[in-house]
Amino acid sequence: MRDEANTVTLDGSEGEGGGQMLRSSLSLSLVTGTPVRVVNVRAGRAKPGLLRQHLTALRAAAELSGARVEGAELGSREVLFAPGAVTPGAYTFRVGTAGSATLVMQTVLPALLRADGPSTVAFEGGTHNPMAPPYEFIARAFVPVINRMGPTVACALERAGFYPAGGGRFTMTVAPAKELARVELMERGAVRERSVVARVAGLSEGIAKRELAAAREVLGWEREEARVEVLPREQGPGNVVLVTVACEHATEVFARVGEKGRSAEAVGAAVAQEAAAWMAAEVPVGEHLADQLLLPMALSGGGRFVTTEPTLHTTTNARVIERFLPVAIGWELSRSGSSSHHSNQWTVTVRGR
Ligand code: AMP
Repeated sequence: MRDEANTVTLDGSEGEGGGQMLRSSLSLSLVTGTPVRVVNVRAGRAKPGLLRQHLTALRAAAELSGARVEGAELGSREVLFAPGAVTPGAYTFRVGTAGSATLVMQTVLPALLRADGPSTVAFEGGTHNPMAPPYEFIARAFVPVINRMGPTVACALERAGFYPAGGGRFTMTVAPAKELARVELMERGAVRERSVVARVAGLSEGIAKRELAAAREVLGWEREEARVEVLPREQGPGNVVLVTVACEHATEVFARVGEKGRSAEAVGAAVAQEAAAWMAAEVPVGEHLADQLLLPMALSGGGRFVTTEPTLHTTTNARVIERFLPVAIGWELSRSGSSSHHSNQWTVTVRGR
């Protein structure tokens, strides 16, 4: 089929080379009505092409908008997506494996934020996966920033779904806003609450205890700030360690999913080190939230935040967004660690053109 004249073509092998380019393209195509063709889908990954999670995101975006789609098959390396109008309402999107359900949620959310009416959406699949936002990150770090833009988004976890078994489910309601307000996240303010939680389902509590001990050693936190959560056996087998730091102006959630062959001590220490680095950097926005805020900020016409050094996910996502929306996204070193005892801070700016 021939592409329409305004079709945006993206090369999925450029930049970070992962699934985000496809998902962001779908979100941006839905909100702008611009068709998109993505070639070399996930060319930078060991298993290139569409995996179940990406295929679910593609089908979800198509269902929301009655889109014309080509290449909607597992393993597909080229996709055409030509959306119709977005219809808010009730939907259920199922990944069907442990593929990340939260990444499917992030694909469809932008289109629902300014839709004609409210939506209630259920997502099934993985809620706690490596290399994807864990559910608690969505609920506590990502969604609150979206809500500051005007819409009211609320999520509820019904059942955890851990990699590699999957089988999780959460729901989301969206009350849209006519216009999205510009948000700035320049400082995080004082720490209000912090916790490290080791969760197990269908696995020994001893794993969780060892993870907490390792994490506490890195963080130097009190025993009361650490707790084990045992989920019903049928939600497992699975394990995740979550570090949450809620500050006056920003909340961050760090996570590591336990995996076979990785010691509980290594899992606990790894997530604690990531959280400790964020604490030391004194930034409001961590590296993952940074790449995920660009798209909603671009939709609101601008925004600004302070973060650690932009990752390849952030820089690649910025270039994808600029292909669809009249914005320029830039970053600069705003506090240099070399001139003080501090770590580097970067300011990312999304400017309307
Ligand atoms: P991709 O690798 O292209 O599929 O994109 C993965 C997305 O998941 C990016 O937006 C990452 O920032 C995000 N992500 C990966 N790990 C985490 C994590 N631990 N917490 C929050 N977001 C994450």
